[in-house]
Amino acid sequence: MVCVRRRPFRSGTPLLPLRHTGHACGLGRCQCPAVWSVDMETSTEDVAEETGGPARPAATVLDQPEAAGAPGTVEPDASASVTTATTAPPAPAAIPPASLSPSRAGDFMQCPLLYRFRVIDRLPEKPSEAATRGTLVHAVLERLFDAPAAERTAPRAKALVPGQWDRLRESRPEVGELFADDPEGERLAQWLAEAERLVERWFTLEDPSRLEPAERELFVEAELDSGLRLRGIIDRVDVAPTGEVRIVDYKTGKAPRPQYAEGALFQMKFYALVVWRLKKVVPRRLQLVYLGSGDVLTYDPVLADLERVERKLLALWEAIRLATETGDWRPRPTKLCGWCDHQAHCPEFGGTPPPYPLPVRAADSGAAAQGRMGPD
Ligand code: SF4
Repeated sequence: MVCVRRRPFRSGTPLLPLRHTGHACGLGRCQCPAVWSVDMETSTEDVAEETGGPARPAATVLDQPEAAGAPGTVEPDASASVTTATTAPPAPAAIPPASLSPSRAGDFMQCPLLYRFRVIDRLPEKPSEAATRGTLVHAVLERLFDAPAAERTAPRAKALVPGQWDRLRESRPEVGELFADDPEGERLAQWLAEAERLVERWFTLEDPSRLEPAERELFVEAELDSGLRLRGIIDRVDVAPTGEVRIVDYKTGKAPRPQYAEGALFQMKFYALVVWRLKKVVPRRLQLVYLGSGDVLTYDPVLADLERVERKLLALWEAIRLATETGDWRPRPTKLCGWCDHQAHCPEFGGTPPPYPLPVRAADSGAAAQGRMGPD
């Protein structure tokens, strides 16, 4: 059952930390991204192929309030890999996709051609204010748990915003371009104030002084029996003393309308499937925390949900495989095209895609496989 609450979440029992595996940097306070993976030797290299590495890239959380809950779509998350034309290194040689993340699955369901532009062609995309703010807020919420429980207060969290913004600009200088035309800093000040408001709203939804996350920004990767690799980054994993697992994801946009909740939960079920495959545990609860609207969306999955998502992903992957082989990537215009950076290359907008960089075979059933695919 899907539950959307507008009242604060108050966990009666603090959740206990759980050691993750394969994560040893030797530092006193580890800054490495946590990893749950079936293949530690290759996971961090492989993820660079699609996400730029386990660390959450800046300017990638496409929190689009207008798009939230749009039919047949999944809100793009922070694992989209984007760079700017001015600072991007030369594009690596194109290779066929080898794994699937919730973001890229959502891309294909939204528009197969968008998937191609992002995964095959790796066309550069500009950072956006909303996406970068999402990255900043995620960083603040993650770092707040470094403090002792009693010190995880809203003022302390808000005080982290300027420092995390500095770190973000340092690690990804291109985000500074967002405010290049703002010499007085007025727009930047408003933008930072909005980030602080989102951080503050979190405290009306959850109480971090009563939480001890088992993991934050956890990179997960699992291989299905078919060979399909699933991967993603989970914002927070809580583990109760009973061993029950709760997967939490923060959204800086607004909660979807109830009729679109399934689409929003697709990403969470994807993560639940990966955790189940890795740990043989069906997460007890999936929780989306919408900072933009002050809502919490929860779902308690059962095994049948995860099996259904797995079948869905296998069908999706087959469609992607066919399109990759044939080079037949169909545009699917929707209102989300307004957020697409690739209109100049899109036939729907009079553009021409770049030459397809992979070998192709004659198209057959690929066209049929690109019919509209929803999250369920
Ligand atoms: S503009 Fe629309 S139809 Fe064209 S690639 Fe982007 S999302 Fe797809």
